[in-house]
Amino acid sequence: MNDIRTGVIGLGAMGAPMARHLASHGFLAGVWNRTTIKADTLAAELGVMRADSPAELAGQCNILLTCVSADKDLESVIAQVLAGLKHGDVVIDTSTVSPVLTKHLAERLERIAVGFIDAPVSGGVEGAVNGRLSVMAGGDFATFSRVLPVLESFSSSVTHMGPVGSGQATKAVNQVIVAGLAEAVCEALALSEKLNLPSERLLSVLTAGAADSWFLRHRGQSVLENRFETGFKLSLLLKDLKIIQSLARNLNINLNTVDAAINDYEKLVTAGDGNNDISGLIRRKRAQMSVADEE
Ligand code: NAP
Repeated sequence: MNDIRTGVIGLGAMGAPMARHLASHGFLAGVWNRTTIKADTLAAELGVMRADSPAELAGQCNILLTCVSADKDLESVIAQVLAGLKHGDVVIDTSTVSPVLTKHLAERLERIAVGFIDAPVSGGVEGAVNGRLSVMAGGDFATFSRVLPVLESFSSSVTHMGPVGSGQATKAVNQVIVAGLAEAVCEALALSEKLNLPSERLLSVLTAGAADSWFLRHRGQSVLENRFETGFKLSLLLKDLKIIQSLARNLNINLNTVDAAINDYEKLVTAGDGNNDISGLIRRKRAQMSVADEE
């Protein structure tokens, strides 16, 4: 694709920094966001158009990149862009959604000769801001190759995993690991508090050995300081885990880590903590340990 004109829909914690990288590579033509003020602010910062509607944005671009919350949101946004899409356009979805929905949307777009690449990302808000996300992509290889420069503009790694849905299937595998690490790290750090270990030395010793992980490095300090500002909203991880649980049911298998994490995050969301970063999980681990003390 010689003349790349990308429109970004969904300017949240991930979409906004991705749009900034697209702009710095000269690939960004415009933006749209449900809450208009965010789109106005970013469009002014980057010197691109703020579309009045998803369809208007589609009409001005040949690639649309979506980054919205969940299945129902992506379905809604795709329904709203249909009127503006043209033959040969490509929709890249970077949200984390169900592989089943992804295949359904790709088929719908194929009927109007529009390509679709599922391209969920990993690497957190830090990865998006630094342009160092890992992209796991699914879709027709020729279409993937056409939009590769767009994906590379905000990533340190872009991998084609297979046909449409393979990106989201890979992301499901990724999120089992993310949830398992969060469970282990939050439980371990709550235990360290019970044991009165010196927190200022704890993280350096743990990250120097086999317990090292992205989550411990990027969230260990803030967890010990009781800071849970978003990064990755725990309500979004709960949404991912429910997608994975549904995949597991279809395969007739149990994923114990996923079931345990769902139980924890459901309790936190019910308690009103859904907008906290997933590291807010330590609150539940601490509460569980206090109950054990009282017994
Ligand atoms: P976020 O900060 O909550 O932003 C969500 C974005 O989606 C906002 O722009 C929001 O618009 C838009 N949106 C939600 N529902 C919509 C609807 N029905 N119609 C139109 N727009 C809608 O979330 P995020 O952290 O950027 O995450 C976005 C996606 O990336 C999610 O699928 C998440 O699982 C995935 N992800 C997140 C991370 C992370 O670390 N945060 C990492 C990897 C993947 P408004 O501004 O109007 O609310």
